[in-house]
Amino acid sequence: MSLTKKTVLSRRGFLRALGLGGLSVLAPAAVQARAKGSEHELATLLDLSRCVGCGACVAACRQGNAPKFPEPVKPFPAMVPARSKPEDWSEKREVDDRLTPYNWLFIQTAEVDWKGERVTVHIPRRCLHCVNPPCANLCPWGAAGKQDNGIVRINDQVCLGGAKCRDVCPWKIPQRQTGVGLYLKLLPRFGGNGVMYKCDRCHELVAQGEQPRCVTACPFGVQSIGPRPEMIERARALARDMDGYIYGLEENGGTNTFYVSPVPFDLLDAALAQAQAKGPGRPHLGTVADSMADESNLAWATLLAPLAGVAAGTLGLIAGSNKDKEDGHGE
Ligand code: SF4
Ligand code: SF4
Ligand code: SF4
Repeated sequence: MSLTKKTVLSRRGFLRALGLGGLSVLAPAAVQARAKGSEHELATLLDLSRCVGCGACVAACRQGNAPKFPEPVKPFPAMVPARSKPEDWSEKREVDDRLTPYNWLFIQTAEVDWKGERVTVHIPRRCLHCVNPPCANLCPWGAAGKQDNGIVRINDQVCLGGAKCRDVCPWKIPQRQTGVGLYLKLLPRFGGNGVMYKCDRCHELVAQGEQPRCVTACPFGVQSIGPRPEMIERARALARDMDGYIYGLEENGGTNTFYVSPVPFDLLDAALAQAQAKGPGRPHLGTVADSMADESNLAWATLLAPLAGVAAGTLGLIAGSNKDKEDGHGE
């Protein structure tokens, strides 16, 4: 199939035409929200004063999203030059105390002295679904994108695993699995090195008007999800009630995840550092400037937008053609 002028003009239209329109295309959940009079992105609110760290949400995420997890081909092709080391979590799928391609949510625990007491705070960690996500804006291949309902997703059919999304994410959320994805067909020894994975906010459930698995699995009602302005209002009211603090409202220019804690987040972040509970796969809770307000990021995003759209469409076509061949429908 050749790329006509019409198909390359619009990334959104192109992806839709390819059936890859989950990214950047209006999702039914947003349609439902609009039908109810809301045109806003969906945001989650996490009341950390309720979280006991039981891990039910983590288990539900792992179980429900298991069909999306990678099944790599081994041995991995050697990279030339060996600049990009393989990242293989396929033999460590049980790891649930950090983010991996097989674990998109984990619980961080911080112990702090606050108001004369020793306080333990459990914090469910995953992608925050930024309002202006650098991972999506700066992916050179258009593999990461934001839906109209606010969900930020990585298209595993298009991602080449170059990890730009992780480099530019203030929390280094996406995690790479080598030996899977389109790079194996295109440039197995030279490009990419796998596929990046992260929380996709259970997009297929949200598209049907249902709630993400971690929200429904929690026995203590820690999480809720709804239109962004409503969740901001609720987060502020909750923070007022508990004389607490909010994280996610301003960070990185604003996210669609709001944590409300009875303890200041800088104390939680310091406690995580002291307990060596932050680092690769274990995000911090520090302050974050708006990364897309940075001039060089903004310039790159402007430059990349049309190119990434074409790249995503082209890679999507290649991925579709490869799948056809594997399914025995090719020429
Ligand atoms: S938290 Fe990171 S991975 Fe998630 S949307 Fe923001 S920039 Fe992207
Ligand atoms: S929204 Fe879905 S994918 Fe994301 S952490 Fe919760 S259960 Fe996992
Ligand atoms: S959010 Fe709920 S399910 Fe998850 S660890 Fe906390 S209390 Fe348990």
